[in-house]
Amino acid sequence: MSPIIGIDLGTTYSCIAYLNGNKPEVIPNLDGHLVTPSAVSFTADGQILVGNVAQRQAVANPERTVTAVKRLIGRKFDSPEVEEAKKRVPYRLVPASNGDVMIAIDNQIISPQEISSLILSYLKACAEAYLGERINEAVITVPAHFNDHQRQATKDAAYIAGLEVLRVINEPTAASLAFGLEANKNCTVAVFDMGGGTFDITILEIQDGIFHVLSTNGDTYLGGEDFDNRIVAWLLDEFKKESGLDLSADKFSLQRIREAAERAKRELSFVLETEINLPFIAIDETGSKHIFKKLSRAKLEDLTRDLIWKTIPLIEQALADARLSPKNIDEVILVGGQTRMPYLRQVIAEFFNQEPRTGIDPDLIVAMGAAVQSGIIKGQITDLALLLDVTPFSLGIETENDGYQVIIEKNTTIPTRKTMAFTTVEHNQVRVRIHVLEGENPLASQNKSLGWFDLIGLEPAPAGVPQIDVTFEIDADGLLRVSAREAATGREQSMEIHYAAGLSRGEVAALKERHRPFALPGKK
Ligand code: AMP
Repeated sequence: MSPIIGIDLGTTYSCIAYLNGNKPEVIPNLDGHLVTPSAVSFTADGQILVGNVAQRQAVANPERTVTAVKRLIGRKFDSPEVEEAKKRVPYRLVPASNGDVMIAIDNQIISPQEISSLILSYLKACAEAYLGERINEAVITVPAHFNDHQRQATKDAAYIAGLEVLRVINEPTAASLAFGLEANKNCTVAVFDMGGGTFDITILEIQDGIFHVLSTNGDTYLGGEDFDNRIVAWLLDEFKKESGLDLSADKFSLQRIREAAERAKRELSFVLETEINLPFIAIDETGSKHIFKKLSRAKLEDLTRDLIWKTIPLIEQALADARLSPKNIDEVILVGGQTRMPYLRQVIAEFFNQEPRTGIDPDLIVAMGAAVQSGIIKGQITDLALLLDVTPFSLGIETENDGYQVIIEKNTTIPTRKTMAFTTVEHNQVRVRIHVLEGENPLASQNKSLGWFDLIGLEPAPAGVPQIDVTFEIDADGLLRVSAREAATGREQSMEIHYAAGLSRGEVAALKERHRPFALPGKK
């Protein structure tokens, strides 16, 4: 039986693990590192580079190196998150004909799914090289706040890479699974996950080997990169004061400064002071300019304190949604590299009035949890039988006068299936539009549109008489299927949502066909 790999496809770094016996073990990449930068670079001579090698040459090739594509996957070109990305990334973003965001590399237009598939294909090749076996199946993790489009787009990326996704699970849930292997007791857990790009807080209840997510909350635009940006802004400011030169529009220098800033930030989790040395960062008529700057841990804390404190109201909301207070939390688990920052740990420890668990490496824990989930699927692990998750947003349909009828409430345990009866508003109406929405606002127009379909051929009848049963079904991966049925005739019409986003099935199949997998070392 070939192994199933667990994949943490992160914003900045990705990680793979498998189950060795019944213990999760992280698989090193082809460079021997346990985590792989989620970076893809297209060289001028047509090569595609992934991971460390892509990240290393990002400085020389910033416009053709795609990083943090997870911010873009399943999103619209004009969404606020993509607006924010446009300001930050050195590569070019363009709209697809359906409004999705795409990446332009020279004359090539590439979907975020394809970029992610290249990362996944590389990780698959790493696992195959390490285990000496073909890998066809995976459990893949996504942030708890990923909506239906983002989950589907992630699955599409895996499919293009030649991986069948057996299960999509939330990252904090995976972390708890990894942790649960060691903690065989009943407790309530808060998972604080701050990686490179996103922040999630999840409240879970673990009872007799069953993980039940009580609530999730977070900020899809709060992560380690924001900390890096604060250091970058400080360095630019200091450099401008000293040299009079503004490097903020110089993409090449900025990339170097960003890398140095991130390195300094990591070091300051272990030392109290570090130096940032960037020789020959600029040149003017007086000669070469350099950045030689000392940065202390205290200064870093000053620069980033508000970012850490921004998480507190989000945690309070998650606790309120779970009808709990900090004192009800038995364990706090930290996930994501940014949680290594001592001040962050201190703030979280004070909030929960307990030391967070740090026993498992915060960069590896999610992939390890995904590997545990693969063991549950294969029947290798039997003491953790079930995994329950919740919907991060309410889901419903548009009704009369911009109304919104929620069908599945936020924080409902999935998988779930709910049916609600609707009727017509006009006499002899032969068609109704089912407009599927996601969000919490009572006005339909203020929520996110997930798609729509028309139920046609209704029996002519006075307004309010026909009964149309609308069923929302969310599977274990968090993917939504909506169907409508006219009760009077009993005629069931199975309907597909025509998503206004994402790649079509045909496009995904064509990309899989074209996809060039990474050759295993030593194999032709
Ligand atoms: P992840 O997406 O979980 O791999 O998290 C990566 C983020 O964690 C990046 O923003 C890193 O800069 C950050 N990170 C990694 N190691 C450390 C560290 N020792 N101290 C602070 N931040 C770190």
